[in-house]
Amino acid sequence: MDMHIKDLRVLITAGANGIGRATALAFRAEGARVHICDVDEKAMAALTEFDPAITASFCDVSDRAQVADLFKAVEKQMGGLDCLINNAGIAGPTGRVDEITVEDWDQCIAIDLTGQFNCARLAVPMLKRSQNASMTNLSSQAGKHGFPLRSPYAAAKWGVIGFTKALSAELGEFGIRVNAICPGLVDGPRIQSVIANKARSLNVSHEDMTEHLFSGVSIKQFVDPHDIAKQIVFLASPYGKTISGQDVSICGDTRMLR
Ligand code: NAD
Repeated sequence: MDMHIKDLRVLITAGANGIGRATALAFRAEGARVHICDVDEKAMAALTEFDPAITASFCDVSDRAQVADLFKAVEKQMGGLDCLINNAGIAGPTGRVDEITVEDWDQCIAIDLTGQFNCARLAVPMLKRSQNASMTNLSSQAGKHGFPLRSPYAAAKWGVIGFTKALSAELGEFGIRVNAICPGLVDGPRIQSVIANKARSLNVSHEDMTEHLFSGVSIKQFVDPHDIAKQIVFLASPYGKTISGQDVSICGDTRMLR
């Protein structure tokens, strides 16, 4: 199926690993132009070596000066922007609210929530000039359920959904669609380290923790990051032209986070 997004100009934050990398390659497979940013220089170099048409900038999304430089690079590389994928996010600390440090709280909110604001505010003037403008913000099932021992992450990801719905309502008149994606347990090293941290915190085995997490999920398998990437590409394509303000779950029907 041709998604009709050849030459679409796409910026993906944290595009060097995981969901961001899968999304960069999914857009490239449709002939889109892709710029990524990340703080992992080695992984960025590996991706741009794999596909030299992808351009990249070092940028920590919580640093407004670096984000300003990122958008200058995007304008220079692609001459504008049609699609922003606000993907950057860290897992944040694991622990009860009275155990986590204020520094860990601040860092998680600064990257996972304020980082999306930092990018969106500079993207919008560029998106207003596009004929097919969209923004997709990575939330999580932690943005739809309570997530014990992960309060900073859950607070940030609930915030992402509120931010998304507010932007959708205010930017619709400019033809800009804004949606959130809410993945469940996604395959990869990140989820394994989240499970390991929770298992340690609750003093149970890795296997028991994994089984415990899946006890609230109907389809008991990890989500493939490439399936998330395909959904993100669909929303950016003309097939998604009337989809906005949605929080789309790709999660095997997660009914509860443990
Ligand atoms: P990942 O850990 O595989 O990759 C994250 C990338 O973000 C890395 O390349 C890292 O270098 C980069 N990064 C970290 N801090 C950054 C910063 N300050 N600025 C720019 N880049 C930074 O993560 P992932 O699993 O691909 O997650 C991507 C998004 O999906 C995140 O927002 C995450 O919260 C969300 N999500 C992931 C899962 C999951 O199970 N993996 C589930 C739900 C939601």
